[in-house]
Amino acid sequence: MGSLSGKVALITGSSRGIGRGIAERLARDGALVAVHYGSNEAAAEETAATITEAGGRAFTVGAELGVPDDVDTLMAGLEAGLRAHGESTLDILVHNAGLNLMGRPIEVLTPEEFDQMVAVNIKAPFFLTQRLLPRLRDGGRIINISSVSTRIASAHGIGYPLTKGALEVFSHTLAKHLGPRGITVNSVVVGFTHTDMTAGVLADPENLERNISLTALGRIGQVPDIADAVAFLASDDARWITGTKVDVTGGVNL
Ligand code: NDP
Repeated sequence: MGSLSGKVALITGSSRGIGRGIAERLARDGALVAVHYGSNEAAAEETAATITEAGGRAFTVGAELGVPDDVDTLMAGLEAGLRAHGESTLDILVHNAGLNLMGRPIEVLTPEEFDQMVAVNIKAPFFLTQRLLPRLRDGGRIINISSVSTRIASAHGIGYPLTKGALEVFSHTLAKHLGPRGITVNSVVVGFTHTDMTAGVLADPENLERNISLTALGRIGQVPDIADAVAFLASDDARWITGTKVDVTGGVNL
């Protein structure tokens, strides 16, 4: 029996990349997983199929975040999926979906681009959490995926770290609020990791070498490096950890 047997998890943005790795890992640990996606339904179905073929349980939920009624759409899909599996509550909520408009310093970032990152990276997790609080079981977990860009100044992408910084404040504030219910809330600070989001940047050998040289462990992160840390925070072993951030970066800029 897996350590998350009997638990139900929603991971936003789990059709691809880090979210997919988290979904697969939590399912391997025994959780029923809601695989959320924005537009890439085929990738989400592939994630869910990989999980079920390995003996796990999963269903997909489509809802683009950062658009009107995004949380309503997600909730409707989630509720239908839970019902189909004889469930109505949630134990683990991972806010992973994120938008990073790279190469947009303050001189050029538009109000529309700013609003878009706020809507996906902050507003959606905030109001999704609000809607899910009554369904989140006492003793549950909320895990917010943040970025190392909150501790390393990088002027070429100022809007994104602002939103991730806000997500970290959301984590520790909510941790105090939900503590009496035994719900832990933490941020996972992610460093450069091989996914679609970073493929363009890391395809440039100079960028690749520069980012490797920033890490103490001398390499770029892989999706399981992040998923394993999230699985730990989701497990009972992390029951006494709340309101903090876990740096999962291979030691960037120590
Ligand atoms: P990817 O671009 O590889 O995957 C993004 C996932 O989020 C996809 O499942 C995508 O769905 C979903 N998504 C994106 N935007 C939306 C939206 N508007 N509405 C609904 N779903 C959406 O990203 P990563 O796996 O690299 O990143 C995951 C998280 O980790 C993000 O929060 C990111 O900021 C953070 N992070 C990543 C780092 C890295 O180096 N990769 C470094 C630091 C932080 P669909 O498939 O449908 O498009």
